[in-house]
Amino acid sequence: MTITGATAIAGIAGSPVTHSMSPVLHNAWLAAAGIDGAYVPFAVPAAGFTAFATGLRGGVVRGINVTIPFKEEALALADTADDLALLSGAANLLTFAPDGTIAARNTDGPGMLAALALQAPGFDPAAGPAVILGAGGAARGAAAALVLAGAPQVRLVNRTRAKAAALADALGGKVAVFDEGPAALERANLIVNATSLGLGGGPGPELDFAAAPETAVVMDMVYKPLDTRFLQAARASGRRTVDGLEMLIRQAVPSFEAFFGQAPAADVDVRALALKFLGAAT
Ligand code: NAP
Repeated sequence: MTITGATAIAGIAGSPVTHSMSPVLHNAWLAAAGIDGAYVPFAVPAAGFTAFATGLRGGVVRGINVTIPFKEEALALADTADDLALLSGAANLLTFAPDGTIAARNTDGPGMLAALALQAPGFDPAAGPAVILGAGGAARGAAAALVLAGAPQVRLVNRTRAKAAALADALGGKVAVFDEGPAALERANLIVNATSLGLGGGPGPELDFAAAPETAVVMDMVYKPLDTRFLQAARASGRRTVDGLEMLIRQAVPSFEAFFGQAPAADVDVRALALKFLGAAT
């Protein structure tokens, strides 16, 4: 990559940010398109995000992706926000306009829906209830996206019930809290693991998939390892599965478009690149 006097800059802000795969994806897309741009990591101190992002007003940096723990703060400092960021209470994308304004978006939810469309062709989020295991940041984004995509009901199952109840309150009437068990899976159209269970190869959530319809699609947001025990069990029960890496890649696509004004080239095998990076990072 050659950095010139005209290089357009975007990046990702997080604490920590060292393990982020976003620079690998975006710089591969930039190189393939021959765009004079660079996507860099910004390791922002935990108490310094608002000062950092406010300092970018004016558009010297085109925009940033935002990761843990700054997604709520990112939404709070923006001047405008899309529906998904507002409903989920979090933004993972900020763009800086020349007039000094900051626009916030949430592309995590669309990333999840795009991954479902790709790996479970024909999946319709509106066709039945969705079950989300977890009530943290990832569950929040997923639940908001599913509500906006027309899911008739979103069921939250979480170790800490009070956290699920608070999330259901924030998201409105279609979101309900369920206890773990067959009732949560009855008529389920989608089951998503949005807990950190299974990360690093440990045991995932244990579900009796037989309580869900055979047509239910099962997704794991955990992508390290790629083929989690949760997905293996779902597949063994005959359910279609979707992995977390595709979601990670798909949430980056609208960010790239927002920063550099064009869609990433479809012929760059970023999935293979990401798998190589994940292998190297283990
Ligand atoms: P978070 O805000 O820290 O939430 C963690 C969730 O996991 C909470 O619901 C927590 O339950 C639950 N949990 C943790 N340990 C548990 C255990 N031993 N037993 C039962 N539940 C447990 O994290 P997050 O940001 O939502 O991320 C969750 C996962 O999604 C992570 O693995 C992350 O890597 C992944 N993720 C993937 C993508 C992607 O693009 N593929 C995007 C975002 C996140 P309590 O409320 O009871 O603590």
